[in-house]
Amino acid sequence: MTEPTTTPSRRAELPLHRQVPDEHGFFGKFGGSFIPPELQKQMDEIDRAYQRICRSYDFIHELRSIRKHFQGRPTPVYYCKNLSNRIDGARIYLKREDLNHSGAHKLNHCMGEALLAKYLGKKKLIAETGAGQHGVALATAGAYFGIPVEIHMGEVDIAKEHPNVVRMKILGAKVVPVSDGLRTLKEAVDSAFQAYLKDPVNSIYCIGSVVGPHPFPLMVREFQRVVGIEAREQFLEMTGELPDNVVACVGGGSNAMGIFSGFLDDPVELHGVEPLGRGAKLGEHAASLSYGQEGTMHGFHSIMLADAQGNPAPVYSVASGLDYPSTGPEQAYLKSIGRTTVGTATDEEAIDAFFRLSRLEGIIPALESAHAVAYALKLAKERPTQDILVNLSGRGDKDIDFVMDKYGSYADKEY
Ligand SMILES: *Cc1c(COP(=O)(O)O)cnc(C)c1O
Repeated sequence: MTEPTTTPSRRAELPLHRQVPDEHGFFGKFGGSFIPPELQKQMDEIDRAYQRICRSYDFIHELRSIRKHFQGRPTPVYYCKNLSNRIDGARIYLKREDLNHSGAHKLNHCMGEALLAKYLGKKKLIAETGAGQHGVALATAGAYFGIPVEIHMGEVDIAKEHPNVVRMKILGAKVVPVSDGLRTLKEAVDSAFQAYLKDPVNSIYCIGSVVGPHPFPLMVREFQRVVGIEAREQFLEMTGELPDNVVACVGGGSNAMGIFSGFLDDPVELHGVEPLGRGAKLGEHAASLSYGQEGTMHGFHSIMLADAQGNPAPVYSVASGLDYPSTGPEQAYLKSIGRTTVGTATDEEAIDAFFRLSRLEGIIPALESAHAVAYALKLAKERPTQDILVNLSGRGDKDIDFVMDKYGSYADKEY
């Protein structure tokens, strides 16, 4: 799973994106681990266990079998003929993570994390969730392995993402409502961390993205790497070439790291898409890489949106899974070395893409994924001769009631 460790001198000969992370989890100046000593002890244990277990035949064999027989992988790459014809520009392709079991890419790392928990003999899986997708994915993994699951979720998100709350309960997870602050993802992370600290020996904190202290950004990326490996092979088989562009939405950055990691060594442009919400004013969006500054939160150093006091700023996006005030350290690093480009899509652009993809292709995307589609549509106009591969990170069933309630008039438009 993880690439063999390279000695520091050998490492310096590799391209910049291959030199990271170092043994302390730093991607350049980003990443690391900034947590209380008692938590650090647990993270060190997880790190050591992961480094050992991820190379074992049994672990790799079991995870591969799960990918195929339980998750339904590989998910297809699909050419959007109607959408591409309509825009009269670039060819748009989708990596269909919406068809991954439980409806999004998140099950890729949840099955990996829960399998690791099984190997470590852990008795409980603890996590936060925003859109509810990570909660559903982890509840699914918990049911599969027979390990109890506790999910912390902001009250605002509980109200907005009702179907996912119901799914988690049906799958047997305990949902803990969080009523602090803005009652969304950030507060849910804080609450889940506190619960984990109460019993770190018997429980494991399953972070929902490539964020948090080392080794999570590395581990979650490795579990998501399957998306990029499959997509590269499938795209080559379909077209005989590599795509010119790969596009993914960026909240924490896991679906983007998953697909990007398949193409890092190739002459392929990688575009991360952040949610611009209602506009560029602080508090109206969650575009951390685009408008943020260096800072440390939730145990890692990255680029974040901060208020005047340097605390994490309130953030907003129509997509609950993207409204996080920071982003994974590797995303910050790849942008800083110029390996990725970071763009944005507003709420309105995402809603338009949501309906456009539904109407023209018969695929209802998650609102998060609709941001990537919206950006791809903009890119397609600028680059009419190019191929664009979009990571469709999830399906939109969870969003349909909210969308029709708030944006029902879009359904009457011609597309
Ligand atoms: C959670 C979620 C995201 C955002 O998370 P990343 O870690 O940035 O990938 C994107 N799409 C869907 C469907 C999600 O559920």
